[in-house]
Amino acid sequence: MREPLETDYLVVGTGAAGMAFTDALLSQSDATVTLVDRRHAPGGHWIDAYPFVRLHQPSAFYGVSSVPLGRDAVGQSGINAGFHEMASADELRAYYAHVMDQHFLPTGRVRHFPCSDHSIGPDGQHVITSRLTGAVQEVRVRRKPVDTGYLEGRIPATSPPPFEVAEGVRCVPAGDIARLTEWPERYVVIGTGKTALDTCIWLLSHGVSASAIQWVRPREAWWLNRRFYQPGEGLPDFFAGVGLQLKAMAQGTSVDDVFARLEAEGLFLRVDTGVVPTMSRGAMISEAELALLRQIEDVVRLGHVRRIERDRIVFDGGSVPTGPETLHVHCAAVGLARPALRPVFEPDRVTLQPLFWGFACYPAALLGVIEATIADTAEKNRVCPPIRYWDEPRDYLSTYLARMAHDRACASHPAVVAWTKSSRLNPMSGLGAHRDHPLVAQTSADLKQYGAVAAENLVKLLQ
Ligand SMILES: Cc1cc2nc3c(=O)[nH]c(=O)nc-3n(C[C@H](O)[C@H](O)[C@H](O)COP(=O)(O)OP(=O)(O)OC[C@H]3O[C@@H](n4cnc5c(N)ncnc54)[C@H](O)[C@@H]3O)c2cc1C
Repeated sequence: MREPLETDYLVVGTGAAGMAFTDALLSQSDATVTLVDRRHAPGGHWIDAYPFVRLHQPSAFYGVSSVPLGRDAVGQSGINAGFHEMASADELRAYYAHVMDQHFLPTGRVRHFPCSDHSIGPDGQHVITSRLTGAVQEVRVRRKPVDTGYLEGRIPATSPPPFEVAEGVRCVPAGDIARLTEWPERYVVIGTGKTALDTCIWLLSHGVSASAIQWVRPREAWWLNRRFYQPGEGLPDFFAGVGLQLKAMAQGTSVDDVFARLEAEGLFLRVDTGVVPTMSRGAMISEAELALLRQIEDVVRLGHVRRIERDRIVFDGGSVPTGPETLHVHCAAVGLARPALRPVFEPDRVTLQPLFWGFACYPAALLGVIEATIADTAEKNRVCPPIRYWDEPRDYLSTYLARMAHDRACASHPAVVAWTKSSRLNPMSGLGAHRDHPLVAQTSADLKQYGAVAAENLVKLLQ
């Protein structure tokens, strides 16, 4: 064993959350940080993601606060024409490598251990083990370890399908459809989430006919309309969307009614308007993508897949025929994890968890700022009670309540408020440039009118 290494913080995981948290620590303190990840490069799940994945949100609000992601260009052609750029997996991988190599390491305060596992040794010590050499490094942490893997999600590329697949059945994870050598007669896309959606859109926009796709959707989902989440000149509409949501939350008579009102405003979209969604994970799509998805008419709603046999797919609630000319596409990984909550800040660790609905990098960076600027652990936890990742429509509404409580709690910390007003990860930080826009004035009035009423009504609706 080598000499133990000393560090202020040991950040386990160099995904988007670990990188955003570290960037905030570096900018708000003089701490030293050691980063470890079992993956070979920073970027977390983006390192293994399917090749056609993109952010579902604008790049403008993603990444680490101090380094812009992309050029904020507006799409000129294709299905994303008119929308601000959304980084591809390649761009994200290059971005996180750049942040590590050009920004973190040159500070002289950061050490990076890729291809390495973090574990706790028999005496409670932190241990980093190289996956390449087996070399073991003990780490002495002066301040805290930071666990960014507590909510580590699963993706199809690195986790097997949650159903049995009989020998001889063609079944691949989503990313493999970009590497086919033998094309099938028919595709069966299995899953309700963002990966399934991307897979269907990618197939349809690469010449596969809608009639050659069967879509297994155990649940129907609400999707956010990308039109309302644009930076720059789109910010007044973004802000107006917040006002519309508060109004619906103030006036809605049930969770479903709130969503129906927001659908009527165009804020929420669903593929099949005949089915009440039971899922809302907060991903965004455009109306053009929605139109494409609606071309797929062969939708199977028989619950979850139990197994795929050579001639039939068996579900919770029945079966449908399949055959050797069919390629089954696994888009059914669990996605975001939802374990029991634990305090974010404990004397001997920080456990990153979401605080409210929003783009993933902002709360992770905010927690870094709070760790660096508020000394008292109880106060940090008062400001940052964690919530579970949202899954159902009612969860989305709870995240709004959490946001309101968080904003109130933060108000007593001017340094934190100042950071939120300046960080590019917070979409609303750019609103000042549009203060004379009529929508901004109108929405500010709506927030005053509906904010408190919405909070009160949500408490009732969520009982
Ligand atoms: C397809 C897809 C698209 C998405 N698009 C968006 C989007 O547009 N906008 C958005 O806000 N969110 C999006 N998300 C949500 C996404 O979860 C976050 O954006 C973010 O990338 C998650 O980062 P993370 O650091 O929390 O987790 P991860 O990316 O999973 O990183 C955690 C890292 O910790 C490492 N690790 C864990 N335990 C250990 C250990 N013991 N030793 C060593 N290493 C360890 C893992 O190897 C991993 O690299 C998307 C998610 C998916 C799956």
